[in-house]
Amino acid sequence: MTEPAVKYIEGATGPWEIVLGLEVHAQVSSKSKLFSGASTEFGAEPNTQVSLVDAAMPGMLPVINEFCVEQAVRTGLGLKAQINNWSRFDRKNYFYPDLPQGYQISQFQFPIVGEGEVLVDLPGGATRIVRIERLHLEQDAGKCLHDQSPNESLVDLSRSGIALMEIVSKPDMRSAEEAGAYVKKLRTILRYLGTCDGNMEEGSLRADVNVSVRKPGGPLGTRCEIKNVNSVRFIGQAIEYEARRQIDVLESGGTIDQETRLFDSKTGETRTMRSKEDAHDYRYFPDPDLQPLVLDKAYVDAIAAGLPELPDVRRARYINEFGLSPYDASVLVAERETAAFYEAVAKGRDAKLAANWVIVELFGMLNKRGVGIEESPVSAARLGELLDLLADGTLSGRLAKEVFEIMIETGGAPKAIVEERGLVQVTDTGAIEAAVDAVIAANPDKVAEVRSGKDKLLGWFVGQVMKSTGGKANPQVLNDILRKKVMGE
Ligand code: MN
Repeated sequence: MTEPAVKYIEGATGPWEIVLGLEVHAQVSSKSKLFSGASTEFGAEPNTQVSLVDAAMPGMLPVINEFCVEQAVRTGLGLKAQINNWSRFDRKNYFYPDLPQGYQISQFQFPIVGEGEVLVDLPGGATRIVRIERLHLEQDAGKCLHDQSPNESLVDLSRSGIALMEIVSKPDMRSAEEAGAYVKKLRTILRYLGTCDGNMEEGSLRADVNVSVRKPGGPLGTRCEIKNVNSVRFIGQAIEYEARRQIDVLESGGTIDQETRLFDSKTGETRTMRSKEDAHDYRYFPDPDLQPLVLDKAYVDAIAAGLPELPDVRRARYINEFGLSPYDASVLVAERETAAFYEAVAKGRDAKLAANWVIVELFGMLNKRGVGIEESPVSAARLGELLDLLADGTLSGRLAKEVFEIMIETGGAPKAIVEERGLVQVTDTGAIEAAVDAVIAANPDKVAEVRSGKDKLLGWFVGQVMKSTGGKANPQVLNDILRKKVMGE
């Protein structure tokens, strides 16, 4: 692990350091809401997924959804965090049209999950730890729609009451790149755990970014919170803009007001939304409709026993068992589906060769087509069969790439393609010798040049023989014969 990769920003008065902490709201992957049985499915018509509890009808009582509790505990364990066996729901009081209760049920003093950590992978293979302060469960609010009517605002309560995990980091990040890498890693972990789909476009993962600046080594500055940023790219833009704004204010003799700001993705700017409330403004108090949440050890242990292999462990295994480079290992474990695909290809085969083919050829092809690995026209089994033909000498590397291209187009099996198109590599020494002899006989001048020391021309001979054999000559055998015949070795 390395120390924070501090990237100072130059101001008129010298360098400044950015200090960043993130509060990520992750929607729990659950079919029903945190305190009601209403559906959470994305994209439904407005106000079609609203129970009486979500609409805050008088006398309705919330009932905790045990599955959501389990997902929060799973996530806590995945973040190597303290699981609190006793936690409590509080009412966070504020008025907003999309919040019919007049308060949000959240956890304030006693969250379900305490301190943990995330190992963040930085470009270039460095890693560092970002500490987690807490994770608590809370309800999402509804949504105000301001663009449906010219003179009215409408309210959609379908989102009201959906379970969120608010994951709060310590102010451990020092650059936009680190914050982006942190969100990516957090998303990877949540997806491995299956506790949140991490879909930022649909809003299932959104970040509030706390930004402040200070002189290197100086006391912490006043922070501003940028609300609900919903892509890794926007997080980076918002941080860069906000840090520069604060530096400009401070350098021109002003002070930073603690406030909540909005990021406008069209202009790339942040602007004031409201001055920041402190916790006491919300008049938190324990929700009298809900019992404290008490988890026994056996319950938590059972969830721990069911955790999947997480990305950091898997990455270490790829490096130690398969001999992959840290970079290749990181690329392959970034998505659970990719890792599963790779392992299916590598099983019983040369693991490094499999990694190469998956990362270079397969990913290259998928990127070109703009599709995910689930939609790959070449299955893991088929790619494995292709590697077998490479291993047993049927195909040279060059022919294997040719067969791979045909597999993409036709979806065919590599063996059948090799047979139909006669793409088998020629390893028969006699046939290759004959081809070499023909090229030598036709080019006595070139032979003389090579013999007088122009070794590089040997590549030209390789090309000529490959041309005359349709690219099928075994490169190893061809090289040996050429060296013998042309160079007299
Ligand atoms: Mn929150």
